[in-house]
Amino acid sequence: NDLILRVQDLQTHFFTRTGVVKAVDGISFELHRGETLGIVGESGSGKSMTAWSILGMVPHPGRIVGGSIHYLGENLLDKSKGEMQDIRERRNFKASVQAVFQDPWSSLNPRMRVDQIISEPLVTHRSLSRAEVRSQVQELLQVVGLHPFHAERYPHEFSGGQRQRIAIARALSTRPKLIVLDEPVSALDVSIRAQILNLLKELQSTYNLSYLLIAHNLATVRYMSHTVGVMYLGKIVEESPPAELFTNAQHPYTRALISASLPAHPRQRREEIVLAGEVPSPLNPPGGCTFHPRCPFVMERCSVDIPLLKAYSSGHMTACHLYEDGVPVAG
Ligand code: SF4
Ligand code: MG
Repeated sequence: NDLILRVQDLQTHFFTRTGVVKAVDGISFELHRGETLGIVGESGSGKSMTAWSILGMVPHPGRIVGGSIHYLGENLLDKSKGEMQDIRERRNFKASVQAVFQDPWSSLNPRMRVDQIISEPLVTHRSLSRAEVRSQVQELLQVVGLHPFHAERYPHEFSGGQRQRIAIARALSTRPKLIVLDEPVSALDVSIRAQILNLLKELQSTYNLSYLLIAHNLATVRYMSHTVGVMYLGKIVEESPPAELFTNAQHPYTRALISASLPAHPRQRREEIVLAGEVPSPLNPPGGCTFHPRCPFVMERCSVDIPLLKAYSSGHMTACHLYEDGVPVAG
């Protein structure tokens, strides 16, 4: 399994007039070739900002202030003349990172034809003849399940699902190894979400693609991912393969998320954890474990000591004082 992406202690902060928001607060993960890492969390958890940090798209007044992002072995944060916040422009990558975003209505330029949209990253990267561009566009349309005659149409002539196929074709055009998928189906009709997810899976196995998938929907993440990271207030609080995570979650926040997403079952009484209160303001997050004001298992040390992400079992990590080296702590 070769390593495509290794993020270590990434910190992306926002310097607002009212204070510093640690949107991404020291997270680490690895992504291997041909695999999907799903990052799940509520809005404000920092999951999109994690994606945008990797894409070099952190908006003002945000800045990457620490950590490293090794893509194909090179630290993207070293690339920029010593300025950590400037991730290299995507068009300068020798091997590019591409992205598919949530809203296929706003992510495609309405004034461009489909062939122009798809070939734009391609012609920025390489000098190709018109005939070459044309044949690649045709091939890409076919690969995502669209017809060659779609090339000359405009985005408004397509449905949401078709637009997302166009966005995927565009992302594939530079033959990337890594594609960041930021809520790729959450703006689509429920009836067509599975089609797009299955297309993404097919493309993954055909091209051995790695995906960093950002989603708030647990079912999407479960279906797509080889590994799932759960984010809460800028940190990964639990990480595991989905089969383990969805049956044996350890962190109280993960367990609350999962039980909230399951339909109520009258016969089968689950051990349900109900989340108390709102997500705290990221401007002034609670000390220690940032989940402690909402945690039903809160202990004295939780408001003081920050729990680190540690192995609970093989491939399963959790950041919670209830567990110490894989063993639940008594009391
Ligand atoms: Fe709850 Fe404490 Fe674990 Fe945080 S560290 S999730 S407050 S038990
Ligand atoms: Mg988001």
